[in-house]
Amino acid sequence: MIPIIPKSSEFKRNLRNSLLGDWVFCAHYVDSAIKQAYSILKSWRRNYLKGRRARAKPVVKKKFVRVKETLYSYRDSKIKISIKPYGEHLVFDVQNAWFWSRAKGEMGELILNEKFLIIIFRFKQRAEKLKGMIAWDCNEKSLDGFNPEIGWIRVDLRRLFHIHRVYELKRRRLQSKASRKPSLRRVLEKYSNRERNRARDFIHKVTRVIAETFKGYVHGFEDLNKEKMLKKSRTHNRNIAKSNWRTIISLMSYKSRVRLLNPHNSTKTCSRCGMVNAPKGALYKCKSCGLKIDRQLNACMNLYLQVEGLSPSPKLFVELVKRWRGFTLTGGEADAGSNEPMRSLKACEPQGLSMDQYLSILSLEPCVTAV
Ligand SMILES: [Zn+2]
Repeated sequence: MIPIIPKSSEFKRNLRNSLLGDWVFCAHYVDSAIKQAYSILKSWRRNYLKGRRARAKPVVKKKFVRVKETLYSYRDSKIKISIKPYGEHLVFDVQNAWFWSRAKGEMGELILNEKFLIIIFRFKQRAEKLKGMIAWDCNEKSLDGFNPEIGWIRVDLRRLFHIHRVYELKRRRLQSKASRKPSLRRVLEKYSNRERNRARDFIHKVTRVIAETFKGYVHGFEDLNKEKMLKKSRTHNRNIAKSNWRTIISLMSYKSRVRLLNPHNSTKTCSRCGMVNAPKGALYKCKSCGLKIDRQLNACMNLYLQVEGLSPSPKLFVELVKRWRGFTLTGGEADAGSNEPMRSLKACEPQGLSMDQYLSILSLEPCVTAV
């Protein structure tokens, strides 16, 4: 049942020769296509074995070609790509291109598709000193991060939620009519595109702010492919949260270092004693040690422990929250013998930024939800 992809050099040679039969363009396009096909099949096979792809072989729907560095020239602000041997070229004048002044580094591989030429630039990133790790837990309306030095960081995602909500309502109004009036289908499609673009734009802004505010940190995110819980759920909102999450991870990885974490039991485990509970609602209550803590904060603390390779213990819990300024017990809970922290404004203020600066950046919100 395992798909086999022939790899022998004889097979590849025969494939190349048969494709080159009536090929009038440069031979390297055939080599590039073969190489590309192999890499697509390889990744499909890997995903198929993990159960993430269907049996049907992958089909390339958009035409594109990769042009290696050795197969084009760049002189006098002109990119010259050979198309046919002896003479036929494709020339792009990039002298007045808007992005040219911003482009850094060396030009790498080119990708040509039916509409665009994509130029890849390579540059060495200065080795930054790593400051530590922030573990993030993503929810529909907020992104919650934890690092013992910084504290609890909450990024407001309500605007993103709102964008999806607005378009959901718009679509719903049209959907019933669209079955009778085919022209409305195009309007629906337009709405979907707008929704996706607006959401993406927002996520671009949020990830930029996070990457700049917490420069030098490695950001840990839950690996969605490993989350089975989401797969079972069929509700619309879950799917949206999932697609947002994917976009956040992918855009974040352009801007900073990202590591994927295993989401197993991260919301259920107690970050102080390690007991697995079945929490309900926004407040996490541990049946074993009595910890009462915000559910999202508990989740990102667990993820932080995971990435540092630690297991929860009461001693460690005290250590993790020790550095937070303004971290105290509420009177009532202290009496009841609970260690539930009261979170002051300062508890979540990132170091090196005043509260005003902090608030002025987008809608990063302080956590003042004292329990
Ligand atoms: Zn506990």
